[in-house]
Amino acid sequence: MNLTASALPSPPRLPAPECTRCSFTSETCDRYTAADLLLHWTTGWQRVLTGPGTARHCAGAPAWSVLEHGCHVRDMCLLFHQQLDAIFGTARPIAPSSVTPEPPPSYHEEDALRVAGELGRAAAALAGRLAALTADEWEHEDPRLPDLRLTVGLLTRHLLHDISHSLHDALRGIREHDAVTGTAHRQDDRKAAGSHG
Ligand SMILES: [Zn+2]
Repeated sequence: MNLTASALPSPPRLPAPECTRCSFTSETCDRYTAADLLLHWTTGWQRVLTGPGTARHCAGAPAWSVLEHGCHVRDMCLLFHQQLDAIFGTARPIAPSSVTPEPPPSYHEEDALRVAGELGRAAAALAGRLAALTADEWEHEDPRLPDLRLTVGLLTRHLLHDISHSLHDALRGIREHDAVTGTAHRQDDRKAAGSHG
């Protein structure tokens, strides 16, 4: 039997993310919607970072504070953009510098308002890059990626699910914290009312 390459079965596709917890579905996340979805969820993250309680913990794992997770989302956007540039050979050469860069601060030491601004710029730049992806680029498989079935589209969906999911966990952590402290405050109020009554 003479099997040509075209007659060989193609390897099964890797599953695209679907999540009932944060309601992410790959069906609505495609080449045409990815940029808008990224901006939608990172704008949500910016609101969280500029609101009160960024030291509170997110629900879920890892057990990061809202600020730490926001830093991670910013860095995911920056790294994904770099990854796209590397895959498509559009990375700009970095000029050698004689100055030793300062080590970046730990996530928990960063300023939440500054992180929100940096996240906004990183997300806007990445959204522009995603919006410009061609159909071939969306389906592009890169031999440097750890699995040959990984396409740029699938990686994008996983990135967007990470951002959507972590925003969901951050908001849930804030709500749960507020509910607990609200209960504590009400108990304090009752105690205070009882001591006077
Ligand atoms: Zn999710």
